[in-house]
Amino acid sequence: MNKNKNSFLFKDISSLKGVGKITKAYLEKKRIEKVKDLLCDLPHSIIDRSKISKIKELEIGKIATLKVKVSKYNFPRIRNLPNKVICSDNDNKINIIFFNSFEGYIRKVLPIGKDVIISGKIHYYKKNYQITNPTYIKLAEQKEELTKIFPKYSLTEGLNEKIYRSLIHNVINNISHDYDWYKKDFLKKNNFNRLKTTLNNLHNPVKKIDIFSNDYRRLAYDEILANLLVLLSSRKSVRSATKSKKKYQDKFSKILLNNFSYNLTNDQKLVLKSLDQDLKSEKRMFRLLQGDVGSGKTVLAFLAAANVIESGYQVAFMAPTEILANQHFDQAKKLFSSINIKIEILTGNTSSKNKKKIKLGLADGSIKLLIGTHSLFQKKIDFSNLGFIIIDEQHKFGVNQRVRLAKKGGDNCDILSMSATPIPRTMMLSIFGDMDLSILKEKPKNRKNIITLLKPENKISEIWPLIKKQLSEDKQVFWVCPLIDDSKKLNYSSAIKKFEIIKKKFPNDSGLLHGSLDNQEKDKILVKFLKKEIKILVSTTVIEVGINFPDANIIVIENSNKFGLSQLHQLRGRVGRGIHESYCIMLYKNNLSQNAKKRLKILRKTNDGFLIADEDLKIRGHGDILGFQQSGIKDFRFADPIHHKDLFLLAEKQIKNMNIKDFKNYEDLINFYDRVNLVNDIAN
Ligand code: ADP
Ligand code: MG
Repeated sequence: MNKNKNSFLFKDISSLKGVGKITKAYLEKKRIEKVKDLLCDLPHSIIDRSKISKIKELEIGKIATLKVKVSKYNFPRIRNLPNKVICSDNDNKINIIFFNSFEGYIRKVLPIGKDVIISGKIHYYKKNYQITNPTYIKLAEQKEELTKIFPKYSLTEGLNEKIYRSLIHNVINNISHDYDWYKKDFLKKNNFNRLKTTLNNLHNPVKKIDIFSNDYRRLAYDEILANLLVLLSSRKSVRSATKSKKKYQDKFSKILLNNFSYNLTNDQKLVLKSLDQDLKSEKRMFRLLQGDVGSGKTVLAFLAAANVIESGYQVAFMAPTEILANQHFDQAKKLFSSINIKIEILTGNTSSKNKKKIKLGLADGSIKLLIGTHSLFQKKIDFSNLGFIIIDEQHKFGVNQRVRLAKKGGDNCDILSMSATPIPRTMMLSIFGDMDLSILKEKPKNRKNIITLLKPENKISEIWPLIKKQLSEDKQVFWVCPLIDDSKKLNYSSAIKKFEIIKKKFPNDSGLLHGSLDNQEKDKILVKFLKKEIKILVSTTVIEVGINFPDANIIVIENSNKFGLSQLHQLRGRVGRGIHESYCIMLYKNNLSQNAKKRLKILRKTNDGFLIADEDLKIRGHGDILGFQQSGIKDFRFADPIHHKDLFLLAEKQIKNMNIKDFKNYEDLINFYDRVNLVNDIAN
């Protein structure tokens, strides 16, 4: 490791020779700010100028490199007419055309009678081959500089290819050969090259980028490890602070449990035990509880809250939306009714008079449980003795926000997050490696099955009787369309058009909800649906996953193949929360391929969100995994959870065997992959 010598990698890009203000501005458009950023911008393909072609073999539209003799100039000296140079090999001719050029320049680079090498795109004009403004011209003696394979980068306008390539070339040259964050043995064992060799190979490719090549894999691995290291140090910093242990005798939670009309599942019991251990330990809880909607996460959170309150602390419960906050509030009031504690709700809609009262109650400690929306924690609210924060639908937070969150609430605060978004196992640690994980796989036993049906669109008439019947029994229907309004480009159903059709069939019962409505409008409609003033709700996918509509028992999903499996699974989870038998009807276009049908059939086979997430990952790639966009993993430039699965597992293994003091060796790695902002967040 030759560290200091390579510190130039982390300097500002303008420290490079040849990068002035203008180039710097262009580079910044490409998000290249530090020297090392240049190296992380890999060429996506190549231009092969290595082979010298004969004029008679030329293909129109392709880039070719020719060795020709300059035979004649044609300088028309009329504005707008280009200069022309006629060249030949054997008996064949080609015209080299120059717009906006100077005679002197042309005479210099293409001297009459000389052999030259010219490379450019081949056109055909008035029965002649021609190259217009050729990219490269060299005298035949300098052939080697031109007849090779060139890397092709995606450059923003204004950046010159030649200059860009030479910048990268110089930077790589300046890296010392022995500079690396890995030991030799490790590199050898995994068929990885040293950093310099890796970068050199990747920036001088002989073929298109290959994500399975050893060099690419090494970069992907670097990136995965950098990510895990950061999450791990975040975890360390959260865990290193000690807190006072919470002391309680399960008095309150027992009262709650006695009010339940059911027994906890075994999974729930296990999770409750972990929560108990966390609360009673002097290490702070920073735990993620994952489980499908309806798996019983919220009741566990309330049980833990009861314990925390018994131990003398206050609890804050944050929900992603106003409606969810209200539902949690109602549920809490019921559950805690036999314990005499003060529970309050605080949202954007709370009147300023009430807000004031609530703030006082929080500050003097009389309010024990506060339920509110996420936006709450951005504002400054003083608790007298906050001991526990519960966050519903955690996946919406990236790592950065989590880090900030972990610092909220003071030293004695435990944090429990809950998410109904299943994450494939390979990605779990890369996304949530900073937290402890609990998973609820088992569903409560009394759950009614959701009958999942696949139907071609032209059989839509078969479902009207079913819907009529359910409505007559006072049940409700979700009707989901992929688009808000009809589109000329996309042949999918839209909520607005569907609403018009459905309104005609069920004039007094239908409502419309989609993403272009503002939040207040959305909430109004959802509340109407909750109160059953609306019975068929036509919508896009905007409805929050967590909301309980106990009497909704049919969900119809149009163009179902357009959605990811996990998303369909979550949509399906909106019904079946009550005591009624429920239906999920997935409609598809009549000409759906066998493969697409096979994919949808997975949902008919299983109701296990984690299994579905894994299938989704296999079929569609990580971009479509729910919650993925927000998770922070989208910042991965090289690593791909499907094709580099083994690397994710290898990184997990390496991290497990690592000593705290080994961390120091990886500072450059973390910097190199830009996880440094996070590190700063953690340190502050
Ligand atoms: P989640 O938060 O995971 O969506 P909840 O905790 O809100 O799930 O539980 C959903 C519903 O199931 C609630 O009405 C709750 O009272 C009920 N429930 C929770 N656990 C069980 C169980 N073990 N058996 C039966 N019903 C349960
Ligand atoms: Mg919930």
